Amino acid sequence: MTFEYIPGIPLVHPVINDDNRAYWASLKEHVLSVQKCSNCGLLLHPHRPMCPRCLSSDMGWHVSPGRGVVHTWVNFVYDRAGYPGIKCPYVVAIVELDEGVRLLSNIIDMDPADVYIGMPVESVFTDVNEELTLVHFKKREK
Ligand SMILES: [Zn+2]
Repeated sequence: MTFEYIPGIPLVHPVINDDNRAYWASLKEHVLSVQKCSNCGLLLHPHRPMCPRCLSSDMGWHVSPGRGVVHTWVNFVYDRAGYPGIKCPYVVAIVELDEGVRLLSNIIDMDPADVYIGMPVESVFTDVNEELTLVHFKKREK
């Protein structure tokens, strides 16, 4: 099962700001980056202007190998329940990266009924259009 967009329905694009610009730019290069406090090393997602642990505003980036597990998930089965521009069924999941950071994403390339909590996953990149690349996850063998 692939993640499929419905042609003709505009997609919502992220609001790019100083906190997340590097994240979206790295996805365009098919690199998954998570924010890292340059002072104490805390990894963060989503992006913030200041570290919640040490209150430093010196934020950098950590390149993630993109490996993790499904923390939780939901399967959108009915078209009226999901996002209008995406064909159902599709899976929205919170993925916990091996570094401990959690991301909201989608699980693709498998039957949604077979997704389970703790399932090992790896990142893949979907070039939605010239302006937007998303990180998705697919099942990986251990
Ligand atoms: Zn910090």
